[in-house]
Amino acid sequence: MNNAKWDVRIERARKLAVNYPFASEGLRFYERLTRFHKSAYSQIEAACGTAKRDRPPAMLRREFDTFLLLPQFAPFLSAITEIAPVPLARFASEFRTRSGSYWQQTLVRFWEDGSGGQMNSEPFEAILSWLFLRPYAEYLADHTKSTAPKGTPSLCPLCGGKPQVGALRPEGDGATRSLICSLCATEWEYRRIVCPACGEEDVHKLAIYTAKEFNHVRVEACDSCRSYLKTVDLTKDGHAVPVVDELATIPLDLWAAEHSYQKLRTNVLGL
Ligand SMILES: [Zn+2]
Ligand SMILES: [Zn+2]
Repeated sequence: MNNAKWDVRIERARKLAVNYPFASEGLRFYERLTRFHKSAYSQIEAACGTAKRDRPPAMLRREFDTFLLLPQFAPFLSAITEIAPVPLARFASEFRTRSGSYWQQTLVRFWEDGSGGQMNSEPFEAILSWLFLRPYAEYLADHTKSTAPKGTPSLCPLCGGKPQVGALRPEGDGATRSLICSLCATEWEYRRIVCPACGEEDVHKLAIYTAKEFNHVRVEACDSCRSYLKTVDLTKDGHAVPVVDELATIPLDLWAAEHSYQKLRTNVLGL
């Protein structure tokens, strides 16, 4: 049932690759990666079923199905060696020669690490783990009975992951802001004038940057902690798919880097 979401992302990536030639190489990688994710998600759903379960808040990472996931890892590494940018492809090729137990340790370490693998892992190992485990995380999130999170958490209420991108969705005469998880793609409401990295609420310290070629995407930066996040405004482009439009708007990341802002969560293109 949820397989349609992968097709929406693939189609959007194809369209944006035509509109934004400077991003076409990265979007082509994303498109091929997403095809792999779609197939992996189907296999997980076939094995685990479509029923929704109760999962307490922030407990998503308590589950890890080694027997289901490990056999998918070698085909994933092979795919990455063919489709990823050279540094990651080369690392995946080397990583293929490691033992199954080393793969398992690496994946479990990433999964159990609430920092998204940024603290305890070799960076490329964390990236491979993150890319590989996304369909599993999305499967678990999609098959969890939804409960409204308490307050407005700045990390994903289901898995504790950092937000990848924000969204403004039309509601009444205005828009509500939400954040989208970088691991399980859960989307949760978040207050508009507050930094998701440090909680800054002073509007004078929260900068917004837009560029005329991307009317519907903006950088939301914080001058207190120097972090930023991009937010996709669906009131301006109802066809946008936040996780994909975020990838395509590379010049906004370059602007942020030039102004010494650090992204809250690096995307699959390493930006
Ligand atoms: Zn999550
Ligand atoms: Zn901040």
